[in-house]
Amino acid sequence: QEALKKQPLVNIGTSGHVDHGKTTLIEALTGVWASRHSEELKRGITLKIGYADTAIYKCPKCPPPQAYYTSATMPKDGKCKYCGSPLEFVRKVSFIDVPGHEMLMSIMLAGAALMDGALLVVDATKECPQPQTREHFTALSIIGVRNLVIVQNKVDVVSKERALESYNEIKKFIAGTWAENAPIVPVSALHKANIDALVWAIEEYIPTPRRDFSKPPRMFVIRSFDVNKPGTNAKDLVGGVLGGTIVQGRFEVGHEIEIRPGIKIKKDGQEVYEPVYTTITSLKTGDQPLEKAYPGGLVAVGTTLDPSVTKADNLIGNVVGYPGTLPPTLYDLEIEVNLLERVVGLDKPMKVEPVRAGEILMVNVGTALSIGAVTSVRDNVAHMKLKIPVVAETGTRVAISRQLAGKWRLIGYGFVK
Ligand code: GDP
Ligand code: MG
Repeated sequence: QEALKKQPLVNIGTSGHVDHGKTTLIEALTGVWASRHSEELKRGITLKIGYADTAIYKCPKCPPPQAYYTSATMPKDGKCKYCGSPLEFVRKVSFIDVPGHEMLMSIMLAGAALMDGALLVVDATKECPQPQTREHFTALSIIGVRNLVIVQNKVDVVSKERALESYNEIKKFIAGTWAENAPIVPVSALHKANIDALVWAIEEYIPTPRRDFSKPPRMFVIRSFDVNKPGTNAKDLVGGVLGGTIVQGRFEVGHEIEIRPGIKIKKDGQEVYEPVYTTITSLKTGDQPLEKAYPGGLVAVGTTLDPSVTKADNLIGNVVGYPGTLPPTLYDLEIEVNLLERVVGLDKPMKVEPVRAGEILMVNVGTALSIGAVTSVRDNVAHMKLKIPVVAETGTRVAISRQLAGKWRLIGYGFVK
């Protein structure tokens, strides 16, 4: 139980058009500016998946929404600002920040694979939907994220009339979809206004998923590092570190793990991927060391691997599990394809043309990304030869994108046959 206080229990993603206020909102909720990467700061966009954790607290006496706080919004003395009661810990949550930029849709799709629920951030000053609002919403639909809270942001700079009009645009946008009954919470992320109502909506609409710990553990890698400072003595070097999210089961320090598809080697003049085996030497979430790690948040896994294997995000998209429990490594993918009616993310509507043999498609599987040529299409089943193999079992969801006018656009989804 103590472990469950240390580690976030649920991943809540952000989604929405660039500049609608996703990163600012995460900061209002957690006190953390999730895009720390220097290049991102320079360009003002989130290039990689960012995580920011916070704890949710509740006043036992006050009615909602006033009752709800996060570590970032609660008074320093831990007491309710309305009635002075000591606040009660509810749960730790992790926010996943994804880029809203149209070029970075594949990162959004990888992020969506890790989300137990999502916030869709809509700028009230702009007409809804903007292209990436629609595109992200479709991505959530495709990946199967179903717990949604819609955040109507920037209400500090709109008139009452415009706020109402924006609300009606959002309502119309979600009418008849799976998200029809999602709550719409007006906030100002910049001025941290109405954040308590948003926390309340998160508690009501994004529950902690039931975890089945009898399943073998599995983690999707989204980062990998060499954490040694240049010039470290050979005897002081520590092994490679994997960063990712556990999607089922739990990992323990001391256990052996398998990483698939692993590393690229040359075998008989051919490039193939070989799984990597190593031992877990440490587990961490944020700066908390853990003996056991569970689904939720970003977990750093220390290994005995040569750090050159894990450096510079080399192992992004890999899947980690106990040896012999992972799905197979697939170079040939057979997908049951469901095409969208129209291409999302464009300003103008455009029909999705059927998949043709010979064309190149991009597929997202979990946090992995690959590109391959379609070798044949029969009915709605497409065969692909992948450049980088993916680790997937029958029924695994695949997001499918096609290059249109130089950009990868989401055109559909499928399931591995
Ligand atoms: P992202 O691209 O969705 O992550 O958007 P950012 O969080 O980077 O915000 C984009 C811009 O909108 C920044 O200049 C923010 O300061 C501004 N912004 C975000 N939230 C609000 C808000 O509630 N009110 C106002 N007026 N501006 C906001
Ligand atoms: Mg951002």
